[in-house]
Amino acid sequence: MDCIFCKIINGEIPSEKVYEDDKVFAFMDINPLNDGHVLIIPKSHAGTIHEIGEDDFLAVMSATHKLAAAVRKALNPDGINLLQLNGKAANQVVPHLHVHIVPRWSGDGLTVSQWEIVAGNMEKVKNVAEQIKNSLK
Ligand code: AMP
Ligand code: ZN
Repeated sequence: MDCIFCKIINGEIPSEKVYEDDKVFAFMDINPLNDGHVLIIPKSHAGTIHEIGEDDFLAVMSATHKLAAAVRKALNPDGINLLQLNGKAANQVVPHLHVHIVPRWSGDGLTVSQWEIVAGNMEKVKNVAEQIKNSLK
């Protein structure tokens, strides 16, 4: 498979590994948004949240929980953003599912989690909630 993150897992492409278990691999992002920017990926290739099985996804999230604690212990950030992008429209660049751990410091200037708060149309919010609830059935 011609996937850059699969190649990182099998060692064809070097990486700064920080964690590995039977289902998950975690390594440093080479274009860090801040010190301590870590990527957590499933070993079994899945493009997005729509392709990954629940077991592998839970393993990724469990490792993310462990690594967030380690990043906090190591770097003492003021906060941490978890980012997980699915699809080109969501700005996903590498098509192998990954969670970003981005440590944050007050005043670091990153805009990654900033958006303008605009009041919603509550009629529309309610209709969309109904659609989602119906889709869970
Ligand atoms: P995304 O927009 O969520 O798909 O982000 C992909 C991330 O992968 C970016 O933050 C890149 O800096 C990172 N990245 C791409 N290639 C590598 C690599 N070879 N080693 C480590 N990180 C990488
Ligand atoms: Zn892959």
